[in-house]
Amino acid sequence: MDEAESGVTKGKCTPQGKDVNRQAASRVVLLDRDGTIIEDPGYLADPDGVRFLPGAVAGLRRLGAAGFRLVVVTNQSGVGRGLVTEEQVAAVHARLRAELEQSGVHLAGVYYCPHRPDEGCGCRKPATGLATRAAAELGFPIADAIVVGDKASDLQLARALGVLSILVLTGEGRATAEAHPGLADYVVADLVEAAGVITWFRSERSEEPAPPCT
Ligand SMILES: [Mg+2]
Ligand SMILES: [Zn+2]
Repeated sequence: MDEAESGVTKGKCTPQGKDVNRQAASRVVLLDRDGTIIEDPGYLADPDGVRFLPGAVAGLRRLGAAGFRLVVVTNQSGVGRGLVTEEQVAAVHARLRAELEQSGVHLAGVYYCPHRPDEGCGCRKPATGLATRAAAELGFPIADAIVVGDKASDLQLARALGVLSILVLTGEGRATAEAHPGLADYVVADLVEAAGVITWFRSERSEEPAPPCT
């Protein structure tokens, strides 16, 4: 990624102070969907509109190969707004899963919040409901998770959970980085770089310096 273009300082793949539960027993990555894994056309209702962002499949494959369980947690207020049906969300997620499986990537779970912001639910990120439900159903300590996303709500979710956050500069990521400097523990170009940071972060060789950003 071109530094001048991104407006974000390089070298942000170094820790910003937090070193949470680095040697966690289980390995779980909570991934945002829109702007992180796939393109966000706004209230996606058609499975044919599933388009992977550059680096997404490769990054997920790398994480899976490294033994991480991959869980999608996504706000889909289009449901509550009456713009997308639950059936359409299910169809989109079925396509997402199928295409990833074809690429050798298995998603351990896909969780979404269907509510509008004004409904005050406990699952719309940055609320922790989706993450705690995933942890209960899939059986992992929430403290072992790492959150990856492109919006402040993803980073604030990580804060609320007390876990590491990684901001990808895909989707709304650049705007988020500029509007919320320091909110993310790491800022990376895409899911490939995120996979590099995550595998390093959870590696046994914790004395080694963080991998350089591309
Ligand atoms: Mg997003
Ligand atoms: Zn909700």
